[in-house]
This record gives sequence, structure tokens and C-alpha cells, in this order.
Amino acid sequence: MRASCTRPNANFIGEHTYYTDGSGNRVHFGWVTNNGNLDRVTTTFSHELVESCTDPEGSAILGVAGTCSQGGWCEIGDVCSSASDLYGVTVQSFWSENDQRCIVPDWPADTYPYSGVQWTDILPANSAASWFTYNWPEYLFVVWEIVPTMPGPGGAEVTWRVQIERASGAYVTYWITATNLTNQDIQIEGRYSVLGH
Ligand SMILES: [Zn+2]
Repeated sequence: MRASCTRPNANFIGEHTYYTDGSGNRVHFGWVTNNGNLDRVTTTFSHELVESCTDPEGSAILGVAGTCSQGGWCEIGDVCSSASDLYGVTVQSFWSENDQRCIVPDWPADTYPYSGVQWTDILPANSAASWFTYNWPEYLFVVWEIVPTMPGPGGAEVTWRVQIERASGAYVTYWITATNLTNQDIQIEGRYSVLGH
């Protein structure tokens, strides 16, 4: 906040809210004070930023009333107070329902591509089986393959298809169905490759 500005609520060191302009557009904004040093400014700013993204008008992602220690909107930053260094900038943690704790995510620090084995199983002769794997961030580009792990020369052994469920705004579930094309049981690996985001 600039020195020439006054804060609307003298008890707050930062806030995010919105107003409606003359054309009917709702304008989202936030402000923070300089309440000590740069680390404290970025701590408060990161708090208001994540809350403005997840709850710009007090009507989106809110906690259960009374779970935070303040009046008004009870948002994902309001139940967390720890701060940590993220690439040289001090930021405050926020509540992750998926992790059930306060987190400081380091996305997009991942380096791509990376890959791995999600599961192993035995695919019975001449039959199909399905698996699902969930909580994959929707922003990842993921490809799947089913690979036999025992030698079986002479022809194709396995085919598969991948179906996708958008389980929530943030996560997808992959449903993978594999068919054993042979008359032998086959040990398989379900492999993923994350190409990027
Ligand atoms: Zn807050």
C-alpha cells in the first residue's frame, strides 16, 4: 500500500475484497501494509493472493465458520500461520484439503519428463481387467501404458485403453482397462510418463 493511501480497516495488515465498477464488473483487489520488513510484507501478500484466487468474493472456497480465529470470511490462509522460504521469498502456508495440512507448494519446480510404475498385477488369460488411479493434478500431461514383464515372444500380448474422469476442478482420475490377448496369465506393470504441465 502506498504511503498516501489509507487502509479501510485500521486493524488489518492486509485484505482482499472486490467492488463493482460503473459497468457492473466486479473488480478483485488486495492490499497489504508495510508492517516491518520485506519478509512480513510478502508473508501477508502471499496470504491475500491465495485467498483472492480461491475466494475472490467471499462466496467460493471457505472453511467451516468458526474454524479460524477471526470474524468475517474464514478462508484457506486463515487457519495457517507458518511461513517458509520459497526461492528466496518468504510466503505463508495455506490449507490444503487434499493434504489435510497447511502447505507451501513448490509447483512448478518439477522437472519433466518423469516416469514410474504405478502398479503391478496379473492379467488372467483371455480376459480384461480395470484399475483406477486418482488425485492426478489436472495440469499434468500424463500417458499410460501396460507392459508385460515376463518374456512372451510370438505376438502382441496386451492392449489397453485409458479413460479419464474429471473428479474435481483440480484433479483427474484415470481409468485403465487392459486386455490379455493370449491364453496365458501375464504379469504386467502399469506405467506412467508425465510429459509436462
Ligand atoms: Zn485471510
